[in-house]
Amino acid sequence: MPFSFSLRRRTSPRSLLRDDWTVRDFASVGVPLVLVLLILFAIWQRFDAEKASVRHNATVQQENIAAVISENLTQTLDRGRRLTLASEIAADGGRQAATNQLAALIASDATYVRVALYRNAPPCTFLALPSANGHDSTAVTHAVHGHPPCRTAKDVLLTRLLPGGEKLSRLPVVISTAYNDDALLAVLDLGHLLQPYPNLDLGRSAVIQILDDDGRALAEQHADGAFVIPDDRRYAQFANNTATKGSLAGNLFEGRSYLSSFQRLKRFPFTVVVSSELDEIMTPAQSGTRLRFLTTMTALTTMIGLAVFAFVWGISRQKRIIAALEAANHENRALIAGLEDEKRHAFVMAAHDHLTGLTNRRMFGELVGTHLSRAKRSREHYALLYLDLDRFKAINDTLGHHVGDLLLQTVADRLRSTLRESDIVARIGGDEFAVLLTGLASTDDVEVVAAKIVEQISAPILDLAGHDVHVTPSIGIAIFPRDGHDVGSLCRHADAAMYESKRTGHGKYTYYEPGFSGDRERLFALEQRLPRAIAENELMLHFQPKVRISDYRIIGFEALVRWQHPDFGLLYPGDFIPLAERTGLIVDLGNWVTESCCRQLATWMMEGLDTVPIAFNVSVQQLQDAELPQRIETLLGRYKVPAERLEVEITETTLVESIEIARQVLDGLEKLGIGIALDDFGSGFSNLSYIRTFPVHRIKIDREFINDIRNSPYDGAIVASIISLAHNLNMQVIAEGVETLDQLIHLKTAGCDEVQGYFFSRPVPASEATDLIVRSILVPAVMVPESSAPPPKPFPQEHGRKHDGETPAKHDECIVTEAQTQPLG
Ligand code: C2E
Ligand code: MG
Ligand code: MG
Repeated sequence: MPFSFSLRRRTSPRSLLRDDWTVRDFASVGVPLVLVLLILFAIWQRFDAEKASVRHNATVQQENIAAVISENLTQTLDRGRRLTLASEIAADGGRQAATNQLAALIASDATYVRVALYRNAPPCTFLALPSANGHDSTAVTHAVHGHPPCRTAKDVLLTRLLPGGEKLSRLPVVISTAYNDDALLAVLDLGHLLQPYPNLDLGRSAVIQILDDDGRALAEQHADGAFVIPDDRRYAQFANNTATKGSLAGNLFEGRSYLSSFQRLKRFPFTVVVSSELDEIMTPAQSGTRLRFLTTMTALTTMIGLAVFAFVWGISRQKRIIAALEAANHENRALIAGLEDEKRHAFVMAAHDHLTGLTNRRMFGELVGTHLSRAKRSREHYALLYLDLDRFKAINDTLGHHVGDLLLQTVADRLRSTLRESDIVARIGGDEFAVLLTGLASTDDVEVVAAKIVEQISAPILDLAGHDVHVTPSIGIAIFPRDGHDVGSLCRHADAAMYESKRTGHGKYTYYEPGFSGDRERLFALEQRLPRAIAENELMLHFQPKVRISDYRIIGFEALVRWQHPDFGLLYPGDFIPLAERTGLIVDLGNWVTESCCRQLATWMMEGLDTVPIAFNVSVQQLQDAELPQRIETLLGRYKVPAERLEVEITETTLVESIEIARQVLDGLEKLGIGIALDDFGSGFSNLSYIRTFPVHRIKIDREFINDIRNSPYDGAIVASIISLAHNLNMQVIAEGVETLDQLIHLKTAGCDEVQGYFFSRPVPASEATDLIVRSILVPAVMVPESSAPPPKPFPQEHGRKHDGETPAKHDECIVTEAQTQPLG
């Protein structure tokens, strides 16, 4: 079944949306998220730092203001002390001098609202400016007596204004000096002192306080300008603090959280505190931070969202692409697998013979090559056998290709069953097979296998599409490494040996011998040229006379075909008739021979010669042509030759195989009046009683029997019985291959009618045959009386022919004569 595939997508969209997130995917999303959180944390930290910075800046500002106020207050009090001292000293000089001093103090410093100098301990007021009153002395008394004056660094006593007295912003202080026990009561206008500070941009909630050492507020200046003398509240967090200055956060007023910076005066019992509500301090930072944070958060969230979306989209797109790629991959794999299958199938097809299933020629070559490369490293023997079916073409042509195919399949089966699994069997051509026998322990085994193959294949094949067929193989054997080291040379040599098998007989095997190859190549060249040779008259006929023993008269000729090859010279039938039979060209060749015989007879007749019949050889395939009688009749008509001037020579095998058509053809020929001779009789297995059923007029005894007729009683007996039986069946008997007088005498004694052989004449060209016709009688020299005998003419030789190993000296000589003959004794 041919392989087919589809390029249609097999992945469904659903499969692409599959949520098969992996740890890697989660990690891919998680890592950017963690990064974003870290960035957020960093931003948050940055915001915290900003808040700390805002608070720090506020603290610094508060501390600076506290320091300035402290310094201001210190300078004011120092100035008071200096003036006190100056006025005390001045007081020694008189009241007026002291008054002047103090007046200058009040005039130069608006903080000092009133001053009163008390000499030698209160309450004796020495002087007061602008004017003394009871409050003052009471205050001093209260201060001095409540708190005995001390000479410590903090030698300023604070006192309270008595109710109903001074303005709220005024603070009476008692400044004592070391000069006398004098004391200066000064009423300070803290409101004046603190007046400039609300103008500083400390915020809406800012409060500046001046506390005494107990933490009690003496004055309180608010940002809106309100100056407050607070209640008796104590701000213990500052009083208890041992530090000179610092900063605190905590509840200051009404439970609200304030940031306060304080500065304690070194030499005076005051602490300046500057406070602002924390919320107010932090608000700009917080609101800005929050806004920026929210903006950043929004931007980041959006970005993260977009990033995650893009990432997820990217992943799912990637997954879709991967899924699509996998699907494409899958299809590719399927495609590749399909192609592999196709390739494998094509390889099997390319490597095997479709009819028999055997390995084909190409594959056989490859396998043999592989085995031989292994064989070179082993001690085992390998044999390559070439096998050709004898007369396969005839079977194919006569019984049809279907039977031919079945026959080839049967032969393939038989070969397979005869050989081992390890052996390689191949069909390498039409009816040619090749076998590699592998791993043989000895070359002797080859012979056993070859004989077995011959036996198996030669066994009759019954009922092959209704026909019983008998076929024999011709086998050529080349042994590795003796006959070749590579595939090419082994195949060539096995092939040459096979042709040798064919040439020397059928149903046999032949081992390669050096010298076969040349024949093989020559055969190939001949095969190529034979059609042209037939068409272009490279063929010619030689004629061998047939002599009647009783009077040595030439009673006929046998036409024997020759081929005048431009390269190889004159070729004899053994060189090309098997080739013509194998290739089917024998039919054309036979037609050429028949027509040439007719033409030669016509020529002789035209020359006015007393013509004798010409016998020509007809092969098995020609006898399978039902049209043959018709064709010959046409030729006879065309050349105006009487039918009895022709004779066909058939072989025994013609009468054994494919009998029906052969019988029909022979009957047709007989009806025309053409003689029929059975050639090479005795070489087959047919008997005369069987042959009797065919229209055979003449028996030609095979020359194998004649060859040794004198020495072999067996052959002599056979020849004698053949002659006798044939005569009984009313047939003429002719012996072929008569070469000696002895043979001639023996045959004459046995009652043989005619002879043909070198003893009388070799086959000769038409011109010489014409001479023989003219002379008409061939008398053996031994029979011509010496006195009357003309000088002997040379023995008729066939031009250019080898002597088949026999020398003319071996033959008895024959004299061609027109003189009277003498009967043999
Ligand atoms: P064949 O028909 O038996 O022809 C006789 C063969 O014996 C011829 O060989 C002939 O030269 C040879 N011969 C004759 N007398 C002697 C002899 O005294 N001693 C020896 N040793 N040989 C002798 P050739 O011409 O080589 O032909 C061989 C065979 O080729 C023929 O045997 C015949 O079967 C076949 N053949 C020849 N011409 C044709 C043809 O035109 N058509 C066909 N189909 N076959 C032919
Ligand atoms: Mg013959
Ligand atoms: Mg013969």
